Amino acid sequence: MDTAEFRKRGKEMVDYIADYLELIEKRQVYPDVEPGYLRPLIPDCAPEEPERFEDILQDVERVIMPGVTHWHSPYFFAYFPTANSFPALLADMLSGGIGCIGFSWASSPACTELETVMLDWLGKMIDLPPQFLAGKDGEGGGVIQSTASEATLVALLAARTKALNRVQSENRRLTPGEIMGRLVAYTSDQAHFSVEKAGLIAGVKIKAVPTDDKFAVRGSALRKVLDQDKAAGLIPFFFCATLGTTTCCSFDKLLELGPICNTENMWMHIDAAYAGSSFVCPEFRYLLNGVEFADSFNFNPHKWLLVNFDCSTMWVKKRTDLTCAFKIDPVYLKHDHQESGLITDYRHWQIPLGRRFRSLKMWFVFRMYGVKGLQEHIRKHVKLAHEFKDLVLQDDRFEICADVVLGLVCFRLKGKNELNEALLKSINEARKIHLVPCRTRRSCSVSRFQRRLPWNLPTSVKPGRAHILEAVTRTLESQAT
Ligand SMILES: *Cc1c(COP(=O)(O)O)cnc(C)c1O
Repeated sequence: MDTAEFRKRGKEMVDYIADYLELIEKRQVYPDVEPGYLRPLIPDCAPEEPERFEDILQDVERVIMPGVTHWHSPYFFAYFPTANSFPALLADMLSGGIGCIGFSWASSPACTELETVMLDWLGKMIDLPPQFLAGKDGEGGGVIQSTASEATLVALLAARTKALNRVQSENRRLTPGEIMGRLVAYTSDQAHFSVEKAGLIAGVKIKAVPTDDKFAVRGSALRKVLDQDKAAGLIPFFFCATLGTTTCCSFDKLLELGPICNTENMWMHIDAAYAGSSFVCPEFRYLLNGVEFADSFNFNPHKWLLVNFDCSTMWVKKRTDLTCAFKIDPVYLKHDHQESGLITDYRHWQIPLGRRFRSLKMWFVFRMYGVKGLQEHIRKHVKLAHEFKDLVLQDDRFEICADVVLGLVCFRLKGKNELNEALLKSINEARKIHLVPCRTRRSCSVSRFQRRLPWNLPTSVKPGRAHILEAVTRTLESQAT
């Protein structure tokens, strides 16, 4: 493909994508394929001779689309939303075109500097305390990670290094191995599984703190396990709070937990992967109160802020906490004041070396929507969720299982779990809409209705509700027979 053909095909591809997104509601939201469907549809090995673009594009409809779950369909209510928008798509195209790998400042200064400034922009949008911003010479700052899972792991590893150094300087008789064996991290019993996975990778114990009747971790619950563990000789060093849990969008009590973490010398990380985007609206910002106690904070604009995957934004109060943990230069660790803060080498803030120019899509989206446009987007989702909740409550066969704060509604038919499992199966098998289940602590099966809005289509909760009600009828009939 030469430049002339690229110009032509590029325009065709934009048209293909525009058609796909404009007409997405005509496609079945969840595919009908069986595992292994794809292999027989294409050759066993790559072609010896070059093929034509037209043929490849045709195969997209023949091979790919039948196996796509259409996340941007108005009939998709599963998981959490994944963001997208035309400005983000275009910026990502530019990022691909520039094709730089911005692991250090010098490897592409614009890639590093725009990222630092965009994280400051976004930090100001959600009113983060100034210690988290880079400014011209701040000690804090932000970085784009690929996912919330990575951000949690990075925070946990940095906290582990910090704890190892501290405990060793306090007690020289303990070997690093002995300290590692005593370190213990905590999170909510409602936390995303990625927190437990981070513990596995980091090789430290991780304990789930029980939540209250609103599925939130309270200070008293953390205090209780801490006291027990300290009495048993363990060294608590990390707590991962969740704002907007995956199961039911509950919020840990940062204002109670933060002071405990600070006095106990524990790193507090906040995982707000989904809910974080809502903090651009002043009326939801109270949910973030207590962030001032945290060492690191993360959320995914790629979930709810119109920036397509991947874009997980993470802020730290002290950049040296990361650079000391991940800089492969042991001598450096003894001279961390040398970090002037003037040059950021993002390779020391993350696990991989290479990184894409992802801040471009933030820049395009923030400028083309403005803060007002972003707020409007969030408010629309929340309004639809409340509309759906009200419809559910009008039907006394149903119950709502957790407070509806943002765009997630957890609901169930009153009665047995089996009934709800059958209902969800019936909903998904009809292929009209797509939902996923969750299970709250009381082992209660619940359907999660994640009200997400295709950003480019008008929508309403009514069609989704109608399909649910049809499935209720089917389920109740089949249970009766
Ligand atoms: C979605 C989600 C995650 C996982 O996000 P990734 O970016 O895919 O790793 C973690 N925690 C919470 C609370 C989430 O909602």
